[in-house]
Amino acid sequence: MPEQYIQVAIPVPMRQLFTYRVPEALSSPAIKVGERVAVSFGPRKVIGIVIDAQAQCDFEISKVKDITTRLNDNFNLSQSLVSFLQLCAHYYHHPVGDVFQQALPILLRKIENITLSPPMVWQAQCPSEDNSDLLAKLEKKAAKQFALYQIINNHNGISWVELRTLGYSKAQLNALQSKALIIEKEQVASQYTWQENTLNQADRLVLSSEQAIIVSAINHSLAQFSCHLIDGVTGSGKTEVYLQSMEEVLANNQQVLVIVPEIGLTPQTLNRFEQRFNVPIALHHSGLNDKERLATWLSAQQGSAAIVIGTRSAVFTPLHRLGLIIIDEEHDSSLKQQDSFRYHCRDMAILRARQLNIPIVLGTATPSFESLQNALSGKYSYHQLLNRAGKSNKAKIALIDMNQQQVEFGLSGTLKHEMKQTLARGEQVLLFLNRRGYAPAINCQECHWLAECQRCDKPYTLHQKQQLLICHHCGSQKRIPPQCPSCGSVRIAPLGQGTEQLESRLEELFPESSIVRIDRDSTRKKGELAKLLQEVTDKKHQLLVGTQMLAKGHHFPDVTLVAVLDVDGALFSFDFRASEQMAQLLIQVAGRAGRASKPGKVLVQSNFVDHPLLQDLVHNGYHHFAHQALTERKQALLPPFTFQALLRADANYPSYPEKFLRALTQRRLEGCEFAGPVPAAMEKKAGKFRYHLIIQAKSRKDLHRAILQLLIQIPNNEWQGKVRWSLDIDPIDLNW
Ligand code: ADP
Ligand code: ZN
Ligand code: ZN
Repeated sequence: MPEQYIQVAIPVPMRQLFTYRVPEALSSPAIKVGERVAVSFGPRKVIGIVIDAQAQCDFEISKVKDITTRLNDNFNLSQSLVSFLQLCAHYYHHPVGDVFQQALPILLRKIENITLSPPMVWQAQCPSEDNSDLLAKLEKKAAKQFALYQIINNHNGISWVELRTLGYSKAQLNALQSKALIIEKEQVASQYTWQENTLNQADRLVLSSEQAIIVSAINHSLAQFSCHLIDGVTGSGKTEVYLQSMEEVLANNQQVLVIVPEIGLTPQTLNRFEQRFNVPIALHHSGLNDKERLATWLSAQQGSAAIVIGTRSAVFTPLHRLGLIIIDEEHDSSLKQQDSFRYHCRDMAILRARQLNIPIVLGTATPSFESLQNALSGKYSYHQLLNRAGKSNKAKIALIDMNQQQVEFGLSGTLKHEMKQTLARGEQVLLFLNRRGYAPAINCQECHWLAECQRCDKPYTLHQKQQLLICHHCGSQKRIPPQCPSCGSVRIAPLGQGTEQLESRLEELFPESSIVRIDRDSTRKKGELAKLLQEVTDKKHQLLVGTQMLAKGHHFPDVTLVAVLDVDGALFSFDFRASEQMAQLLIQVAGRAGRASKPGKVLVQSNFVDHPLLQDLVHNGYHHFAHQALTERKQALLPPFTFQALLRADANYPSYPEKFLRALTQRRLEGCEFAGPVPAAMEKKAGKFRYHLIIQAKSRKDLHRAILQLLIQIPNNEWQGKVRWSLDIDPIDLNW
């Protein structure tokens, strides 16, 4: 029998596949593409994925090693997923082994045998006697328990992961169990099939004609690739369109993949899906442990999950009967991974839809310029939802000129007045400040010495509660010096204002109101965010202070005043995308105001109210602003009219990365231009000096070819051993 060789993707930072031999003892049954095998690589044993099961051996045969074992478990990858991941590696010029590594749940990257306990679900107990009295009591006395019971009762079985993500606690679950209202059962892992009671008809809304046209366009394109952009303000009924588009797909016993920026932050969205469909839903987000992630992976792969809802990396979930992909908030920058494998989830999802010949739906109130341009040029089907569904009105945005105002603690007189009136009406106020900590710097009031992180050359942020100086760039911490190290003065004071300070100032200004701060610092503890959000919904707090975190998808019906305290940073950034992101943020924030029947107001404080970008956005809206900006990008030959790659390099000395990148610019690359090398906006971070080189082309083909040529040059670059470098295709953040 001839020797059998296979090609394997291994988690190492090298771009090639590796050849191994299959010893006779392991050759039956035949090895398949997508199988996981253990192989030795240098001194290590690693998991590899079989990419080619019938490879030629191009090496000296005596040097080729045998595979060690085959992992005969349920967790092999399908041929289709393997091809997809190869496409991803190819698109981003990223080491293929690392792509597989990152796409797999952590437990599948390990050699140890995995034992998953059978999936458990909660069900309503069939009552032996009438329990309507008990339920009536529950409804009055314990509303949350009652709501939990109703969700469980509406389903044939719902997992703890789902319930937890919806914001329910173990205690509430235990309480219902001890009342014998619910029981826990093993889930039968059969393929999901559509049934009579799968759809909750009562919950279904009658579509507006705008909505109905979109649903029918999507349904007409099932079983072929098409990309739909739904462009509609917050509250215009996009989610309802997603839900009704899914019906036909689910009824065909196909699966739906739904991607959202942050599920933990938006339990309301998940709740809508849970309410509407009584089907097994698998979740994929950062609040899951390794076993739970693997369980999601498995239920998707086996087809027992009908819907997978997840964040960015859910795009790599195996779904062998996938019929539709939905990406909510397609403009959101969290869809792009910003380290190692720098993929954009939306773009990879489109690639996957194309591969599988299925439709994909992108939804947003503020389309990314990339998607908008693709829609305008006819590459995508473009659907606009111009009116808010339901009763609510659109919030008005007004600018406040800070030069004309008495300002106290960063709050203008106008804003304070509006806050008082809103609070007096019993409604809530959201203040938005994108700077956590107490103050962005501390300095000496005598000699103006500034406490700076030595490793980044940037000011330390003061965290008053922890009594620490923390560098927000590298994370290093330091105690607050009692004296100025430069002149010895004790007059050291905070400079500027962060959310922590704003919170304590508001306590002075509004002693009657309860204030809650929601940022990365205040929500570090597990479950804390869900708890705070619930408290806001329950109106335990009247004033909300938050960072960008709060701009995403929350639904606070009683927040009728939203203020952005400081918008100026984005107006003068060197990054051409900063204004796009600023505009998206303002519109998203505005979407938080007055979603219910109460009208909302949005105030934006600026020292530059005459700035044309702000004026255009406020008076003419996002779309006018976006069209204007697209025209400018076209003239300036910037994306989305051209294509970019960013080569980043850093080292302990500034000359190394500069020379490394400069050497690469010596050879002309056809159809491409170089910009740089230039020092990164943050030139020094954690002790390293950082440089950027942008490669730009008018066609993606040219860019792709150029990158291949650069990658061939790099091993011969005399500086390459002295620098760390990384490649970012379609970069969206030039600040890094
Ligand atoms: P989006 O996803 O665009 O923010 P939603 O789908 O969440 O919008 O809709 C916003 C609100 O309007 C929700 O309360 C929803 O129930 C309601 N709504 C959506 N579509 C309709 C409709 N066709 N008829 C009545 N109400 C609707
Ligand atoms: Zn001093
Ligand atoms: Zn630092």
